[in-house]
Amino acid sequence: MTNYVLVLNSGSSSIKFQVLDLNADPQDPPFLSGLVEQIGENRGHIKLVTEDQTIEDRRSILSHSVGLERAFGMMSLLGAGPQDLDISAVGHRVVHGGSKFSEPVVITDEIVDDIRSLIPLAPLHNPANIDGIENARTLLPDVKHVAVFDTAFFHSLPEAASRYGLNREVADQYHIRRYGFHGTSHQYVSGLVPGILGKDADDINQITLHLGNGASMAAIRGGSPVDTTMGLTPLEGLVMGTRTGDIDAGIIFHLYREGKMTIDEIDTLFNKRSGLKGLAGANDFRLLQELINEGDQNAQDAYDIYVHRVRRYVGAFMLQLGRLDAVVFTAGVGENHVGIRRDTMAELENFGISIDESRNNNDEGVEGPRVISSDDSTVKVLVVPTNEELAIARAAKELSEM
Ligand code: AMP
Repeated sequence: MTNYVLVLNSGSSSIKFQVLDLNADPQDPPFLSGLVEQIGENRGHIKLVTEDQTIEDRRSILSHSVGLERAFGMMSLLGAGPQDLDISAVGHRVVHGGSKFSEPVVITDEIVDDIRSLIPLAPLHNPANIDGIENARTLLPDVKHVAVFDTAFFHSLPEAASRYGLNREVADQYHIRRYGFHGTSHQYVSGLVPGILGKDADDINQITLHLGNGASMAAIRGGSPVDTTMGLTPLEGLVMGTRTGDIDAGIIFHLYREGKMTIDEIDTLFNKRSGLKGLAGANDFRLLQELINEGDQNAQDAYDIYVHRVRRYVGAFMLQLGRLDAVVFTAGVGENHVGIRRDTMAELENFGISIDESRNNNDEGVEGPRVISSDDSTVKVLVVPTNEELAIARAAKELSEM
């Protein structure tokens, strides 16, 4: 029997979605994946991919609601429309759940208002998420819609990790704290580790590295996060594809006063024109690697800066955990880049961490979770592919049945 759930990730100019069959093998590709992009531009793009078909539409897309409705129509042409499939729940990825949401919730009008009230904390993301929720609720009024928050896993971060050294009154007035992001991914991959290592979840201290275009790390003790690299926004922490990661806040004052830059220009500079792209002109690691191979010094520097920052946090999190059992790599870079795993874990034998070169290299065609540390490494190093959509679908299904 099939058991379909729709998962929607609605961004400012695109909507990504998947239909997953929760009765299928989790390693299988989704039953259907779709992308609606270039919304509001002269030419739009909708693409649907199933196991045996790909269909596309390049007409302009006036709005998110037009895009979603057209995508649903295209799904029906494939015989895979929401009605054909008897979709049992819809899961929505919501970026910021503020201090309010510590777990997924069934969406009601009140919940939409709550998510709206958090827009000041995520001005780029939450409005698009709300748009997706409202459109999908209009198009699919008879199924339960569930919001799954990127911040929820980190809701219980200890005060020492979540509070900045910022004036308490100001911080509280403006709800400034470290919220953390990529929570669905950190929770999903860390949740698989006990099974892989054959240990009780309570007995495992781990560091998870979600290294994708956005990148973050988490220190997790017995299933609960005790620290993470991202903060009030997804800008803090690691050097990313286009984001600075940690930066001296004094640089903002300097650029404002000396560079005569506006706040919006600095925002764009830090979020879109920095990181690997701003350092070396390439935010994709595959391109960066090509540049390094050609002897490009900026690319090599960008790589070294990236690795240096990851290692800084590995060290910090190791001390905070006190005892470390596992290091887990995930997301596009973490799952695929042999060199990043090797270099971020290099020369840590004194700390009980040792990668097995051939296990680390032998990635071709390996799909599921795997251990890449050597047998004598007291800390196990793993690659665990993330699947945020599956995690969201499972949460949506579970809540829809309550
Ligand atoms: P994500 O945000 O998880 O989709 O990760 C996207 C990033 O993963 C891309 O920007 C690439 O830099 C990186 N990536 C994906 N595939 C590979 C690969 N085969 N080798 C190296 N890096 C990769």
